[in-house]
Parts: sequence; structure tokens; C-alpha cells
Amino acid sequence: MDNVRKIDPVVPNRELIEEASRIINGGGTVAFPTETVYGLGANALDDEACKKIYEVKGRQQDNPIIVHINDFEQLESVTQGLSGKMREKFERVWPGPLTVVLKKRNIGLVPTAGLETVAVRMPAHRVPQELIRRSGKPIAAPSANKSGRPSPVYASEVLEDLGQKVDLILDGGASSFGVESTVMMFKGDEIVILRPGAFSAEDIKKIFELRVTISGDTPETPVSPGMKYRHYAPEKELFLARSEEKAIEACREGNVLFIGSSELADKVGTESVVLGSRKDLYNVARNLFPSFRKLDRSRYSAGIIESFEEKGIGLAIMNRIAKATGGREVK
Ligand code: AMP
Ligand code: MG
Repeated sequence: MDNVRKIDPVVPNRELIEEASRIINGGGTVAFPTETVYGLGANALDDEACKKIYEVKGRQQDNPIIVHINDFEQLESVTQGLSGKMREKFERVWPGPLTVVLKKRNIGLVPTAGLETVAVRMPAHRVPQELIRRSGKPIAAPSANKSGRPSPVYASEVLEDLGQKVDLILDGGASSFGVESTVMMFKGDEIVILRPGAFSAEDIKKIFELRVTISGDTPETPVSPGMKYRHYAPEKELFLARSEEKAIEACREGNVLFIGSSELADKVGTESVVLGSRKDLYNVARNLFPSFRKLDRSRYSAGIIESFEEKGIGLAIMNRIAKATGGREVK
């Protein structure tokens, strides 16, 4: 437990931020809460420090890392910038859970996995904001889980996956969204969503006033390199139930754990992990990754998970479920 420190998520303790920024500037790694999930951060301008992120997570070398910034000056320092009109749009959405892929500048090969582009975002959480400000560095940070495992929503889950391999874990309580940021890029006059996330496709469309497509990447041709790997997955088997009837039947037949809405949990007649009401998909999102970890700790060898409407954050929920089940469904 010696690398975990409690930190106030609203008014972060200055000495702790000071200690964490010394680690960042010294080439070390710090895990911290963000509004999406916990991140594992290192100085984005230091390739050796960024290599540690890959080592600690067991992350594949060809999977680039999101660079977290605090202001538009920093955006200009690591990218070739945005047009005036697009910058105005990002002034509206940032800080927040939206990541954009832009042409890079002054940034090494390691966090970008050798690509010509860099993914950047401004987090809406006081802890990374203060850490970036105090260290004076953009911070490269993927989710702070062991590669392939569900992303951490709590500091205890970071500790469970990464243990003492991280120099410091800042425990600021639960992340508010519980799913990662949405990753987008511009392609001609369109926006392509490379990874659905906490920022909805509907809101992107409304704010940017451009055509929005969701990348239909396949394992052979991933646009966003990270999307090709098995991800977010429990160790136990998980199956998607496309309808209430299928869920009820699968739960009756098998010795399984049910994961789903309060509405359906009342009907399946088996032990359940309740994600929340179908009417509040934000709550469902927040409980999703922890539910995969609960399945692993449970006495069941498999889980059945309900299907949710692919609207708003529901698109990200269903994307993560598809990755976690590996496409398996109950018949
Ligand atoms: P995470 O590990 O949760 O931070 O995921 C970051 C996601 O952003 C992965 O799916 C990456 O492949 C994607 N990403 C990061 N940098 C780039 C980039 N330059 N171009 C396209 N996708 C990127
Ligand atoms: Mg991740």
C-alpha cells in the first residue's frame, strides 16, 4: 500500500501534487484519477519515461498513448494546431472526455508509437490539471490497468493490476464516467470516431456541425491501433444476451452471474450485479468495468450481460461489452 496516497479530487493537496510532479519530471510514472477512468501518466516529452508506461502495463508497442494537456498553448506545442474555427469548437468541449488525433510536432516516437499523429485531450479533473500545470509537461497517459484488463474506475483496481510497479498512485475516489474518452479525427470534411467513449457521437455532431461516422475498423485494418486488441475483458467467460427472454433463459439454465439493469435483474432469478436503471446509462457506464472485475472474483465461471440501447453513452457501453465478450452471445 506504500505507493498509494489519498488526494482530494476537488482541491488536490499541494504537497502531493508537488511530489507527483517531481516523479513526472524525474522520468517516473504516476497513476491518477480523471473524469473518465484512472490514467497511468509519464512525461510525454520523455521517451524513456513513456517506455515505462508500456512496461508497467504490458502494453503492445504499436499502441499509441493519449497526451493530456492543460491549455491551447500546450496543444500548439505538441501538434500542428487547429484552424481558428475548430479551435473555437474545442474551447467549448474542453476540458472534457473528447480526444482528437492531430498531426504531431516535437513529440517522440514512443507515446505516438511511431505515427505521424498524436492523440490529445484536456482532462476535466483537478488532479491531472494540477499535475500538468505543476510539472509543466504534457502527460502521456493510457488507462491505468494491466493491458487487456478492464479499465480502473477506482485506485484499488489500479493497485490490483499494477501494484508497486507504479511510482505513485493518487487515490481521488471513483472516476465519474467510468468509460474512456471518445477518440475522433478529422477526415476531409468529416469527423471519424475511432473509439466511442464518454463524449457522445450526438454531441460531437451538434457541436462540430459536421458529418460524423463511426469507424468500422476490423482487426486487420484498425484506424486506431488500440482497437485491435482483446480489451476490457474479464478472465471469466462473458456472453451477451440480446433480449430479456434470452437473458432469463440463459440464467435459468446455467450456473451464471447476471450483469445488467435493475429492471431485468428483478426478473432473471439468479445472483446479479446491478449496473443501474436502463433509464440512466451514465450510471450503467460507471458500474460496467467494476462489474467485470466482480465476475472474476465471484464463484461463477461465466457471466451473462444484458444489451443496452446504443444511444448517447450507450454506444460506448455496447462497444466495451463487445470487446469484453469477444463477440460471444447467448443463442
Ligand atoms: P487508452 O489506452 O485507453 O488510453 O486508449 C487510447 C486509444 O487512443 C487507443 O485506442 C489508441 O489506439 C488511440 N490512439 C492514441 N493515439 C492515436 C493516434 N495517434 N492515432 C490513432 N489512434 C490513437
Ligand atoms: Mg486502455
